[in-house]
Amino acid sequence: MTIAGHAGHTGQAGLQPVESYLSEVLAAIRPLPPGELGLDEAEGAVLAEDVTAAWPLPPFDNSGMDGYAVLAADVAAAAPERPVTLPVRGEVPAGDTRRHELAPGTCLRIMTGAPVPSGADAVVPVEWTDGGSARGRQVTFTRPAGPGNAIRRAGGDAAVGDVLLRAGTRLGPVQLGLLAAAGRGTVTARRRPRLTVMSTGNELIEPGQPVTPGQIWESNSRMLAAAARQAGFRAARLPIVPDDKQAVLAAIEDALASADLLVTTGGVSMGGEHDIVKAALHDLGTVTFRKIAMQPGMPQGFGAVGPAATPIFTLPGNPVSAYVSFQLFVRPAASVLQGIDPERLAATSATLAAPVRSPAGRRSFLRGTLDPSAGVVAPVSGQQSHQLASLARANALIIVPEAVTELPEGADVDVLVLP
Ligand code: AMP
Ligand code: MG
Repeated sequence: MTIAGHAGHTGQAGLQPVESYLSEVLAAIRPLPPGELGLDEAEGAVLAEDVTAAWPLPPFDNSGMDGYAVLAADVAAAAPERPVTLPVRGEVPAGDTRRHELAPGTCLRIMTGAPVPSGADAVVPVEWTDGGSARGRQVTFTRPAGPGNAIRRAGGDAAVGDVLLRAGTRLGPVQLGLLAAAGRGTVTARRRPRLTVMSTGNELIEPGQPVTPGQIWESNSRMLAAAARQAGFRAARLPIVPDDKQAVLAAIEDALASADLLVTTGGVSMGGEHDIVKAALHDLGTVTFRKIAMQPGMPQGFGAVGPAATPIFTLPGNPVSAYVSFQLFVRPAASVLQGIDPERLAATSATLAAPVRSPAGRRSFLRGTLDPSAGVVAPVSGQQSHQLASLARANALIIVPEAVTELPEGADVDVLVLP
């Protein structure tokens, strides 16, 4: 391990450490106001209330099997050599809302999910009988069933007043199922934030269109919109914005109407006259641009725009820089909009399969392939910020701390797992 010889651990003069930038960003994000959401719009939302059971779950005693509702005592003596035959006095299907009463010495055919008739204290599965005979008017039992057999008790899953889901829970498939099972049509929750992604650059062309030398196909907007959706947010991309201050401001203005968070890429490098996003937003005074002690992703801008102070990230244009910046900064910030702790990439540690290098004073996020079972991570070939094909081969980011410029094969490293 080689430690760079400069003073302090935070790196090159003028560069802001990654952690300090992230804390600043997260502290500036205000959660969205919670709303009353119907279940169909609540997917991915985060509860802003504790949800308690207003009804027992299940709501009534019901049969866990297709079979016969009986008084357990009536079949207690049943055995293959001493079968017990009872008259069948009716049938209770699921959804039956009539009141059934079981007379001792009789039974009722009952289906899974049907209410257990009063007077019955057990259900005998159809498999333990002869299946009924004499046109279903009687049935023969060949084994006993104890009291409570195959009966799902009211409240056996949750009792009235039990907390089913806590505030702060993200509503995934099972949580939505539970809300529905509990009879909730609406919940108080923060919906998934809407992210709008726009790419800037005169060189950018829509994929599928012809390019001439000097032009490239635009890749960031789809990549970041997909990353946002993968992280559980909603996301839209805008058409490519040219390197023109007015065009950039107009696109942002339009996007504000429907976005909870804006992401731009490109045009924020080191302050050249072509860095149009920086120039356009600088005049608003609400977005600050800095150099972060990291690689890739050094130039970053963050602030708020529009009447609702919508958070905006201006990410660097190189695709790998934009993607890493999204995962490190935008994703946690967007989760804070839902009133929860920032969601970050899963962290682990692993052994390096090959030596790596890193610039002094900057935290490197090298692209690597992690084998979690072996605990080994290998840097992919092609570590430059435009090398999207290399990123596509990676499943992890290898962290090389600011003060470290070289690590040998076999070194232990912290690794972030890419989603
Ligand atoms: P910039 O940050 O605008 O200086 O762009 C840095 C590099 O990233 C340049 O090589 C750009 O052509 C490239 N780039 C910027 N935006 C995109 C994009 N949306 N898709 C692909 N490459 C981009
Ligand atoms: Mg550009």
